Amino acid sequence: MSVAATVPALMPVYPRCDVRPVRGEGAYLYGERGEKYLDFAAGIAVNALGHGHTALVKAIADQAATLMHVSNLYGSPQGEHFAQRLVDATFADTVFFTNSGAEAVECAIKTARRYHYANGNPERHDLITFDTAFHGRTLGAISATNQAKMRDGFEPLLPGFKYATFNDLEGALALIDGNTAGFLVEPIQGEGGIRPASMEFLQGLRKACDEHGLLLVLDEVQAGYGRTGKLFAHELYGITPDIIASAKGIGGGFPLGACLATAEAAKGMVAGTHGSTYGGNPLAMAAGEAVLDVIQGEGFLENVTRMGERLRSALEQLIPNHDHLFHSVRGHGLMLGIKLTSDSRRFVAHCRDNHGLLLVSAGENVVRVLPPLNIEEAHVAEFIEKLSEAARVYVPVADE
Ligand SMILES: *Cc1c(COP(=O)(O)O)cnc(C)c1O
Repeated sequence: MSVAATVPALMPVYPRCDVRPVRGEGAYLYGERGEKYLDFAAGIAVNALGHGHTALVKAIADQAATLMHVSNLYGSPQGEHFAQRLVDATFADTVFFTNSGAEAVECAIKTARRYHYANGNPERHDLITFDTAFHGRTLGAISATNQAKMRDGFEPLLPGFKYATFNDLEGALALIDGNTAGFLVEPIQGEGGIRPASMEFLQGLRKACDEHGLLLVLDEVQAGYGRTGKLFAHELYGITPDIIASAKGIGGGFPLGACLATAEAAKGMVAGTHGSTYGGNPLAMAAGEAVLDVIQGEGFLENVTRMGERLRSALEQLIPNHDHLFHSVRGHGLMLGIKLTSDSRRFVAHCRDNHGLLLVSAGENVVRVLPPLNIEEAHVAEFIEKLSEAARVYVPVADE
């Protein structure tokens, strides 16, 4: 400890609240003093199977006892097996495993640049990205958004990004030039406020990519992996991307991410071009396989769709009773956003502190509803009860 130390041991980059979870069970979290919360935040769309899922816990424990980590210098039966399952289930032909969403985005950016390099067009290095996007916190990922709050003071950032307005197809197409590599876009913006891409927008970007030899890179870190009722959100749009970044739900709470690509898009990613010490180690693969087993199980995604519809219609019915607070509902499946008429962070704190209900705030004064994907009707009912009670007693303050 230095003499001048006045900073907490845990670097204070998060404005942490007073909830201090020590145990979880299904859709519930328990704090240090035994208090119980209904967890409709799920670690920000990470705990896809809720807390303490038996099969996931067992898979991790068994694999930890068998073989936790070996270097990527060696052959990986575990990685080959899990990658093949992802390839079989998606548009992709090949997968790189990472430990986080930002790393999956980094791999996606590198793959896109390297594609044009391999084609003899190294000048095609720019990705067109979108305002209010969130791609993670690495220097590459913050360079891929124009949000000042994430970028200020971290300059110089990585060159090679241009910013268009989300859902403005014409504006995005107008930025295409001889340096363009492709588009990097979330099919449904998460941090930006549960803003789904319009059909016309995403399909238009796909068409432009086909016409100009560009790559469509989707950031499905939040929207993917069953969250919308589809394995990946782009399936809702009837398009296939060239590259996607996945993470969050893919490990169900174990740090895991993946960059998936077509053979064509990945053609520059040959031996020696990329790597990760931990990426795809046996423990991570065991967690990933256990999550995928459940998500691919009979009726699982249908349950996401059905619970999402129930949740949505119940929320829509709540709005007229609380129109001083709730404006509208948006999103797909169990990736829903309630747009408020006032500060969403304050209402999220109220639900948490006074009603034992965990939610997440997002841009545009949206409250994100991101429960575990295996919730049942009783959880939806409990959530609606808690939320309507929270809304009933809540006194919004005018925007500061
Ligand atoms: C959370 C998130 C990321 C970053 O993931 P990390 O695991 O925090 O690095 C990237 N993109 C989107 C859309 C996200 O929601």
